[in-house]
Amino acid sequence: MKILFAAAEVAPFSKAGGLADVVGSLPKELEKDTEIAIFTPLHGFIDKEKFGIKELENSEMWLTFGYSPQKFNLYTTKLPATDINVFFIKNDWYFTPFKEVYPKYLDPRYEHERYISFSLAVMEYAKALNFRADVIHANDWHTAMLPLYLHSNYKFDDFWSKTKSVFEIHNLAYQGIWFEDVLDFANMRKDIVYNQWGCEHYNRVNWMKGAINYADRVVAVSPTYSREILSSEYGENMDYTLRGIQNKLRGILNGIDYTVFDPSKDKALVENYDINTFEEGKEANKKAICEYFGLKYNPERPLIALISRLVGQKGIDLIRDMQWELQNLNADFIFLGSGDKDYENLFIWLSNNTSNIRTYVGYDGKLANQIYAGSDFFLMPSKFEPCGLSQLIAMRYGSLPIVRATGGLEDTITGYPLDNSNGFKFWSYNGWDMLNAIKCALYVYTDKYVFNAMRKSALSTDFSWKRSAKEYLNMYREITGLK
Ligand code: ADP
Repeated sequence: MKILFAAAEVAPFSKAGGLADVVGSLPKELEKDTEIAIFTPLHGFIDKEKFGIKELENSEMWLTFGYSPQKFNLYTTKLPATDINVFFIKNDWYFTPFKEVYPKYLDPRYEHERYISFSLAVMEYAKALNFRADVIHANDWHTAMLPLYLHSNYKFDDFWSKTKSVFEIHNLAYQGIWFEDVLDFANMRKDIVYNQWGCEHYNRVNWMKGAINYADRVVAVSPTYSREILSSEYGENMDYTLRGIQNKLRGILNGIDYTVFDPSKDKALVENYDINTFEEGKEANKKAICEYFGLKYNPERPLIALISRLVGQKGIDLIRDMQWELQNLNADFIFLGSGDKDYENLFIWLSNNTSNIRTYVGYDGKLANQIYAGSDFFLMPSKFEPCGLSQLIAMRYGSLPIVRATGGLEDTITGYPLDNSNGFKFWSYNGWDMLNAIKCALYVYTDKYVFNAMRKSALSTDFSWKRSAKEYLNMYREITGLK
């Protein structure tokens, strides 16, 4: 069975968030049962030399859409430690100039053009490579055009006639909405797709709606999120559409790559550790990270970390609401994040004006791992959370998550004081409830017996891809009828 993955970001080549981790790791687990090709844009910042990314011979291709023909080239390498081909689509107008996966302040119309061009190029290059996929697995709005193209322009193309599609919602908040004329730019058959059973949504083109309607299966990244998005509270104006396709909606929990996130081998750490040595190992890392951030190291004082994109979804408002209370707790905080300026400024202010909160504003994967390893607790007060990988990574590194029980956080964390608890939960989106959960964690910290039992439980919870990969495989088999 041939599966084509398409995504805006793929770890380790490019990463802004969890989407990259998923597309860079799920295929590894599927490799033995399927033949996979991953397509992603060749963003300007991707290090071609480091990853051995080479241009394919005679790969130049001109595609006509929008205002004028556009030139594309195709680059390739293997996904590290696998035999999986990753194809990078190069275009000097849409992708080469940028230093970030999602550059800030782009004209929104241009963002649509970028991913329309990418999707068209995916369809054409896959055909040129004779990669006749049985399933196209598209992810989030950036690649949501693929199920639409498959249903319209390529519907009568023999090459694609048997191909099925899966659309995966990593985050429903970003749907890809623009005016109707964008369909002309995309050369897309308006007569087929622009209606309420296609991509028309409140008189606009909505790529995600189109993909939801046309894909053979729609996947949400955790069982709880797949139920939450059917309600108006979490549905982002798409709940009505989603309620209508429940028969093909699945909730499959994400995993993380246990070979990439491994405290017993991670070179970023000052001391490696595993479930037998975590007490000393984590202490050494805590000391190092406290020193790095200019906090006085004290083994009796708990350290709480937060690593996140700084956007409304992540519950930073609750931290703002509780900033005075947090300053007076008998605990230290390290925040790592980047995103909205308001939140960045809040973090910088806290760092400069408190004795127990320190911040690094920016994106740094190595530092992130050092913080996961050095911290005792990991705060994730999300307003909504489709799956969340950070809490899984935190547990893998023995840092106990303190989470708001929503989406994947509800599915992956067993809250104290239940049996085998691996973290702390609160339910309402409210600063005082978050504070109570933090206080509960600090109380447990004083009881080393319970604290260590919980850390063991977190370290031994298995969130690798094994279980979820099977569910994907069964789903592919179901829609293609292949073994
Ligand atoms: P989302 O995909 O919504 O951003 P996830 O929890 O699913 O949230 O995944 C976030 C991933 O990005 C985790 O691997 C986390 O460690 C990483 N990450 C987020 N912000 C930063 C940052 N500022 N520096 C380094 N890594 C970060």
